[in-house]
This record gives sequence, C-alpha cells and structure tokens, in this order.
Amino acid sequence: MQKMKALVFHGVGDLRLDEVPRPRPRAGEAVIRITATTICGTDVHIIKGEYPVKNGLILGHEPVGVIHELGDGLDDEYAVGQRVIVGAITPCGQCFYCFNGVHSQCHGPLGGWRFGNTINGAWAEYLLVQDARANLAVIPDSLTDDQVLMLPDIASTGISGAESGNVKVGDAVAVFAQGPIGLCATMGARLRGASLIVGIDPNGERRSMSKRFGASVTINPNACNAVEELKRLTDGRGVDVAIEALGRQDTFEAALRSLRPGGVLSSLGVYAGKLVAPYEAIYAGLADQKIVTTLCPGGKERMRRLLAMVATGRMDLTPLVTHRFALEDLKDAYELFSQQRDGVLKVGIYPQGIPSATAARATTREPVSATL
Ligand SMILES: [Zn+2]
Ligand SMILES: [Zn+2]
Repeated sequence: MQKMKALVFHGVGDLRLDEVPRPRPRAGEAVIRITATTICGTDVHIIKGEYPVKNGLILGHEPVGVIHELGDGLDDEYAVGQRVIVGAITPCGQCFYCFNGVHSQCHGPLGGWRFGNTINGAWAEYLLVQDARANLAVIPDSLTDDQVLMLPDIASTGISGAESGNVKVGDAVAVFAQGPIGLCATMGARLRGASLIVGIDPNGERRSMSKRFGASVTINPNACNAVEELKRLTDGRGVDVAIEALGRQDTFEAALRSLRPGGVLSSLGVYAGKLVAPYEAIYAGLADQKIVTTLCPGGKERMRRLLAMVATGRMDLTPLVTHRFALEDLKDAYELFSQQRDGVLKVGIYPQGIPSATAARATTREPVSATL
C-alpha cells in the first residue's frame, strides 16, 4: 500500500505529521493530489478541543488540487490531471436535505461538512473526495492556486452572509468583524449592490483591508459606540442588513441593536454557550425582523460560480493569503494563525512545495487608517 504525508489529529493540542495510507477511490469517488490548502478558524477550535472529532483524523477542509485517480463512472466528465477545487462542504446531491435545497445540511445538521470532521481532510498529499460528480469543480487554466484557495470555504461562507441577508441594491449593510470571513461578507455586500457598507473591527489592519474589500466606512468598536455610529450613518433608522461574522454574544447583540425594523440579521458566526436576544434589542419581537443562519454553501455549482467571479476579475481574494508554508511546516503555520501573529489573515499550505510564482508575489499591505 502506498503512503502519503498528512497532518493527523491525535487529541487536544496534539497534531502530528504522519505517514498514512494513500486513499484509493471506489466507484463515484476521486482522489486528488493536494497542491494548496489552508487553515480555518474551525480547525483551531478542533485542535483546542472545542469541537470534538475522532483521534486519527486528518484535518483541513479547503482543498485545491489535481485529479490523481478516478473511481468508476466519472470519466465522461472528468480526467486525471485536471486541476480542481472542492468545496469545504461536500453534499451528496441526493438526500432529503439536498432535495430540499439545504445542501450544507446534507443527511442532517451540518452533515455536508465532512472533510476534517467526519472523514479525512485536506492537510495531506492526497484527498479522497466522495460523491465526486457533485463536488469536483474544474479550475480555469488562467487561474493560479492562490487565486482560488479562498473559494472552498472563506469566500463561499462570507459571500453567503450577504446572500442569506438578501442584500439589495442601495441597502445599508454593517459587517461585524473583519477577519477573512467578515471581509468576504463585505465583498459580498458590495457585489450585491449595497450603497453603504460598514466594516466593524477593533484591528486597524483589518479595517484598512475592509476598505479594500468594499467597505465605504469602517468603525473601531473600541473607540466609539458602533451601534450609535451605525444609527447616525442611517438617519437614525439602523441598517437594512447586519452580518455577524465572529460568533460572540456581544457582536450578535450589537448586530441586533443596529438593525432597522424589517431588517435582517445574517449570522455567520459559530457560537458557544448561550446566545441571548434581549427584548429591547428586538423591539419585543414585534419589528418584522429576520435572523438567518448559514453554513458555507458547497458543491460544484457553487464553486463554479465563485471560480467564474475570480476568472472575470469581479473579485480578487489573493490579499487574504498573507503567509505561505510547506506541508511539513503546517504546525508552524498553525501557531502563527491560531495566535493571530504578524498580521496574518490566512496561510497558504502547499503539500507539493511552495510555488515560486506565488511565493514571489508578496502580499502588499496598505497603511493602517482608522476612519471613524
Ligand atoms: Zn472553515
Ligand atoms: Zn445530501
């Protein structure tokens, strides 16, 4: 049996570079050779023991790669050697939830999230993709791995915050937290035609990135009352859509309080413990407001749409990849990312080696500027 290198979860805080069997595809499955992947905040929760997965699991759910081997029944649509991405969420396309249009909940709550959760993930040289026909999205030749690395999770999730919030042309939108997902939510609000987009984050570098991703105004919530500022910016009404992209009680509550009657709170955060909606923050429950939650949309059609947006120059996500590492150095990348050091937004991990073209394209940084 052939082997491969992979980063394996051996318990809380115990991540190891192991030699493990290389997967082989059964009918309808594919094995891809991973060329680029990344680390998500969710992986940090897993490694810290805040979200349980089984010991021995390969983590990572953001795959970019090349088709290495196809199981039976796929060669009419795919070929070995094609470059592909696979969504972090891999719906089957055939179950109760998929046919009810909630693909991310495939087979049950959060069930579409398999990689690095219920099956082996992308922090490896090779990855087995189940339900391949529903999930392999071919990368246009014109695009580099770095250009598409954010699509499987971060961009799909962030943009869905604006989509689920039903942002309309001319809307005023507030995005609470400008980490990678919040920045993509800001981009989503811009793509959907919002007139006023407010990026809220205490970190100055992230506020300046927020402008780059489409914010018209940024707010430092440590320097002023963000809710009051948002009311002031909207003639006292509050925003049409508030997107929560952090997963904390204080940002959830601020998002609620910033919403106008009839507005939508679109929640992307992952919460822990009790989440409270104070009665006065929701007008005693009588103000025709909506709270919607979204898990990252996956599947090949979602990926095709996002790839098309990058290929046509409608969005550029490369500024999010601030640091690059080989697979062997993933633990260093994890330390950097989990401690949020050195202005890191996302790290690129390259199991076939760091490509020189992308390594040479240093991430440019704009000067920090707080506008409010
Ligand atoms: Zn993720
Ligand atoms: Zn399904």
